[in-house]
Amino acid sequence: MSHTAELIAVGTELLLGNIANTNAQVLSQSLSALGVNVFWHTVVGDNPDRLKEALEIARRRADVIITTGGLGPTYDDLTKQTICEAFGKPLVLHPDILEDIRAFYESAVHVPMPENNTQQAELPEDCAVFDNPVGTAPGCAFEAEGVHVLMLPGPPHEMETMLRRHVEPYLRKLSHEVIVSRDIMTFGMGESSVDELLHEKMAHMTNPTLATYAKPCEVRLRATAKAATEEEARAMLAPVERMVLDTLGDIVYGVDMMDLAACCHAQLIRRNMTLATAESCTGGLVAEKLTAIPGASTIYRGGVVSYWTSIKADVLGVPQELLDAYGPVSEPCARAMAEGVRKITGADLGVSVTGSAGPTADERGVPVGIVYIGLAAPGGTFCRSLDMGRRRRDRIQGLAANHAFDVVRRYLQGLPIEHI
Ligand code: ATP
Repeated sequence: MSHTAELIAVGTELLLGNIANTNAQVLSQSLSALGVNVFWHTVVGDNPDRLKEALEIARRRADVIITTGGLGPTYDDLTKQTICEAFGKPLVLHPDILEDIRAFYESAVHVPMPENNTQQAELPEDCAVFDNPVGTAPGCAFEAEGVHVLMLPGPPHEMETMLRRHVEPYLRKLSHEVIVSRDIMTFGMGESSVDELLHEKMAHMTNPTLATYAKPCEVRLRATAKAATEEEARAMLAPVERMVLDTLGDIVYGVDMMDLAACCHAQLIRRNMTLATAESCTGGLVAEKLTAIPGASTIYRGGVVSYWTSIKADVLGVPQELLDAYGPVSEPCARAMAEGVRKITGADLGVSVTGSAGPTADERGVPVGIVYIGLAAPGGTFCRSLDMGRRRRDRIQGLAANHAFDVVRRYLQGLPIEHI
C-alpha cells in the first residue's frame, strides 16, 4: 500500500519570507525516493490555533504527517504540545533524554543547561524517539487513529541528520515494497531535446518509471522501480538504463554520480593523472567545484584565475602578439592559457576557460555567450568553441565550467572533444 504524506513546516519566519522552506524540499526528495506520495506542503506560523487547524485538515487527507520546527525550548516552540492536544496524547518526561541534553550543553556549549530546556525532554506517550546528535531537541513519531505523526526539529542540519538516521528507516518499515532509483547523468543536450528523444517511451512506463530533471546546466534522468525485493527492483532498472544509453549515447557521463566534477575526479584517479585550471570568465568556479570534493589534492594541482589580460600574458605566458591579434576571448588564447597552466604547474592536463559572460559584450565587441574551452594534454591541445547566446551571467559561467569538465572527461574516455 502506498502512503500519502503531508509536510507541515512551523515557523512565522517562513511565512514572512525571512527564510525559505528548504526542509520541505529535502524531505520531499527523500519521500519521493521512498515511494511516499507528497500531495501537500503546508506552512503555518507559531500559532497553536492555526497549527491545530492545519493538523485537522492534514489528518483527513494524509496518513503520514511530518512537521518541522517548533521543538525548541522557547515559548513560541509549540509543535509538540499542540500535536499532543490534537491527538489526545499526554506528554511524558524522559529523564535519560534530559541527561543527554544537559550533557550536550556542558560539552558543546560549555554552559549549564537553562531550565526551560526541560520541556525538550518531554515527548508524547508511547512514541518512537529520534535522538538528535547534532542539537538538543529530539524528534519523535507515534501512530494514532491510523495516522503516523513525525516531529522533526527546524534547523536544517538537525532535520537532515534525523531524516537519514530515523525517518527514512521508519518509513521504509511502513511499506512492503522496495523502491530503487538510479540517476542517469547527462551533459550536452537541453532538457527538451532529451525529452523529445525519450518522451514516447517515458509516457508508457508505469513501473519502472523514468523522469527528466533539469539541474542547472545539465539534465538528470531518474529511473525508479518498485518491487518486492531490492534485487528484483535492480533487475527491472537494468534494461531502462540500457535503453537510455542506447538512445542518448555519450552525453551520458555516469550513473548515480554527483556531478561532472565528480566524474572527472574519478576518471583522473583511475588514470593516476593530475589537472590544472586557467580560468577567466568563470573566475575560479572550475577550481571551486573540484576542491569541494574530498581528496581533490590527489588529482588537482592548482589554478590561475587570469582575469586581466596582463595576467594571461605575465603568469600563464600567453604571447602578447597573440593577445593583440585575436584578443583574450579567442580560440588561440584558450589554447595558450591551457598550455601555459599545464607548463607552470607540471600537471598532466591543463584546462582553460575564456569567454564573454555579459551582461554586455566585452571591450573588443565579443558578444555575450561566446566561450572557448582549451585543453592541453599529452595527446595535443584542443579547443571547444561555444556560443551560448544571451543567457544570465551565472548561467553562462555555470555552463562554461561544466563544459570544462566535459572536455576533460571526454579526453579521458577517448571521445570526441571539440564538437558534441
Ligand atoms: P530550536 O531548538 O533551534 O529552536 P526548533 O525545532 O524549535 O529548533 P525552529 O525554532 O522552528 O526549530 O527553527 C530553528 C531555525 O531553523 C530557524 O530559525 C530557521 O533558521 C531554521 N528553519 C526552521 N524551519 C525551517 C524550514 N522549514 N526550512 C529551512 N529552515 C528552517
